[in-house]
Amino acid sequence: MDTQPKPTRTCAPKWYDVPDEKWFDWRWQLANRLNSVEELGEVIRLTDSEKQALGAPGLFRVDITPYFASLIDPDDPNCPVRKQVIPTARELEKFESQMEDSLAEDRHSPVPGLVHRYPDRVLFLVTTQCASYCRYCTRSRIVGDPGATFKRSEWDAAIDYLKRTPQVRDVLLSGGDPLTLAPKLLEELLARLREIPHIEIVRIGSRVPVFMPMRIDQDFCDMVQKYHPFWLNIHVNHAREITPELRQACDRLSRAGVPLGNQSVLLAGVNDSVNIQRELVHELVKMRVRPYYLYQCDLVEGSGHLRTTVSRGIEIIEGLRGHTSGFAVPTFCVDGPGGGGKIPVMPNYVISQAPGKIVLRNYEGFLTTYTEPHDYDPHAIDALDAQARKRLEPGQSGVLGLLEGDRLTIEPAGFSETHLRGAEPHRLNVDASKWQPLGIGTPDRPVLKDVQVVEKINHEVE
Ligand SMILES: *Cc1c(COP(=O)(O)O)cnc(C)c1O
Repeated sequence: MDTQPKPTRTCAPKWYDVPDEKWFDWRWQLANRLNSVEELGEVIRLTDSEKQALGAPGLFRVDITPYFASLIDPDDPNCPVRKQVIPTARELEKFESQMEDSLAEDRHSPVPGLVHRYPDRVLFLVTTQCASYCRYCTRSRIVGDPGATFKRSEWDAAIDYLKRTPQVRDVLLSGGDPLTLAPKLLEELLARLREIPHIEIVRIGSRVPVFMPMRIDQDFCDMVQKYHPFWLNIHVNHAREITPELRQACDRLSRAGVPLGNQSVLLAGVNDSVNIQRELVHELVKMRVRPYYLYQCDLVEGSGHLRTTVSRGIEIIEGLRGHTSGFAVPTFCVDGPGGGGKIPVMPNYVISQAPGKIVLRNYEGFLTTYTEPHDYDPHAIDALDAQARKRLEPGQSGVLGLLEGDRLTIEPAGFSETHLRGAEPHRLNVDASKWQPLGIGTPDRPVLKDVQVVEKINHEVE
């Protein structure tokens, strides 16, 4: 006998007659998703704008699980849950700077579906299918299209790439939503990743717990426990998405030792206010989910009307940091258009600086001075630091490389050529040694030595 308490049922009247065995079966939820004006019209009083969008050719896929559709206020066109999954005519409007692949993910993929942007971690897109489709999807160029999903040969190529790339210690599975894969396939993937010795962390980004919490059953939790350290990020945008079912799913995952985070997208008319965000993060930490990122909405086709200014995000962080528990404050990020990766953005807390003093402000506007030591010797740690430095990615040391003396400048492409102005070598520019800063970028710099070590590791694996 099942000794668990009878689960709560978040269910719109349309499905009152559906027996629990079906309602709580995630395959039933997938099979009974809503996508047409007729089906959605049975649950929600659709506006003309929504009807127009639902009938538009080339619309990004619509599909909503009965469970998630039950969270929508049928009579409120401004319901924050509704705007995330039901298109309006405004979705069809174009806007300046919109792109198909605004994060240049496909350009930064050594293998289809494997985005290797950062030195030590990768994003592995394993499917194009989701339980429901967010209107602002950053990957609408591939997501939703069953014909565009990844082939087994592409999974194999991605895994081969990971095997021969030892600086990757963290693999993030996403898509699409990895939790829509057949459980056997998902486990096979996790097992194959776990066989690779240098992969320390495996994590999944999934909105399935929010769209279809019944997928997070005990079998799933027992399965992932075999692949620890395994982390999971969910995607909740508004406190109204936090139901007893989602709480139960998160509780199960936490008990299985899975650290949980949340990634939200800042969306106009959905969650772009300090008080709505504060309520959201409080509800998240109550169920042991740590707010991880709050994203600026990407410059992706169809998402124009859901975007806010970046300053709205800064204002929200201003309203959280200091005002509530530190672990309830997400990092607000702009994912750099063109492929810059996640760039954290926040209010300025440094007011001024001089040698030996730094003037700071807190959330209340209180100004204080931190007096710095006169005798701090950063070189005292250098030998230990060199020992701890491992698997540095050649060419990706970034601004840290400037601070560490790896190089003096980072230049835009073509910088030297532009400034040569097409000149022939002459008596003042012919000797390049005059621009070599003493002690910077020389072969005895520890940073460069480690670059050679990485090249050696890569070579050995091949
Ligand atoms: C978000 C992302 C990651 C993971 O970034 P973290 O800041 O480590 O969570 C890795 N690769 C790509 C391409 C990403 O977009």
